[in-house]
Amino acid sequence: DELISQIAAGEVVERPASVVRELVDNALDAGARQITVRLQAGGIRLISVEDDGIGILREELPTALKRHATSKIASLNDLEAVDTMGFRGEALAAICSIAEVSVLTRTDEGASHGWLLDGRSGELQPTARSRGTTVEVRELFFATPARRKFLKSESTELAHCIEAVRRHALARPEVGFAIWHEGKLVAQWRAVAPDLAGGEYLLDALRRRLADVLGEEFIEQAVAVNWPADDVPGESALTGGQQRLRVWGFAGVPDAARSRPDWQFAYVNGRFVRDKVITHAARSAYEDVLHGHRQPVYALYVGIDPTRVDVNVHPTKIEVRFRDSREVHQAVRHAVESALAAPRS
Ligand code: ADP
Ligand code: MG
Repeated sequence: DELISQIAAGEVVERPASVVRELVDNALDAGARQITVRLQAGGIRLISVEDDGIGILREELPTALKRHATSKIASLNDLEAVDTMGFRGEALAAICSIAEVSVLTRTDEGASHGWLLDGRSGELQPTARSRGTTVEVRELFFATPARRKFLKSESTELAHCIEAVRRHALARPEVGFAIWHEGKLVAQWRAVAPDLAGGEYLLDALRRRLADVLGEEFIEQAVAVNWPADDVPGESALTGGQQRLRVWGFAGVPDAARSRPDWQFAYVNGRFVRDKVITHAARSAYEDVLHGHRQPVYALYVGIDPTRVDVNVHPTKIEVRFRDSREVHQAVRHAVESALAAPRS
């Protein structure tokens, strides 16, 4: 079983940034509003992710680290309609097999203190903390030196870790993020207060978060994307779960000098994806309206009935498969085209 876990770990965990992504996924699934990531040596020595989410019950704590332990789906039916980031119950077990893991957590229920679980010994001890969970991962790949050797420099690994958090931050403006490296704050994106009602909120919150994460220069030259136009997405659209196909976000028209090829972010039901259908549809829209004079830059969000998309294609969940990719292609293309074609103020 240790071996199976290590093999699974190889698929899920390529580098420190993969661990960061899985732990932040879990924090978001737990309803966190503030997530703090602390790193040492680019994440190789330490990755700690602290959240203020619902926490883990003492009884469930030891099983959370076991393989195929997930509290998120109860049946195959649920697997058809996943609306959480995690569902495979693999990540923590996989990470445990290749690193030293400890979990400090407290729920609202029961005890007036939290519990600290040492992943190695299985020992549980009472510890003070407020509601939420901190997962600490030390000495990644210590047991698999061959893998450890393949890691790049600490600064490269750090950059990948920051990128992993940035992708989450672009999808969830209502959550605050902070990243520390070697005791220094390297990035901070404050939660955008949901003080506006309805769909106004979503696009406005996104606008502010995009300005914060990518810089004012991204948002200054960007147009809002919202399709269908009669229907503004509500806050629930952040994590998916809605039935109707929607596309929203921002598309930029930077001049060549300011164009950034890494500014292409696509999300499906709140999950960052690399997807040919979306990329191609967006590129076609730029071709049609701007005749290829502008490099596409965008943050696009697709909301789709979860039964119409398979997110269980790859262990890292970065790829998805649409049941009807034409429908998604057309929606994205229309959405971006009408945004780019609209008169700009
Ligand atoms: P998955 O996310 O696919 O369910 P994981 O291995 O990532 O599997 O996590 C296993 C379980 O541990 C989760 O289903 C959840 O119950 C619990 N868990 C992990 N991290 C957290 C967290 N930050 N807050 C609350 N529960 C958590
Ligand atoms: Mg998970």
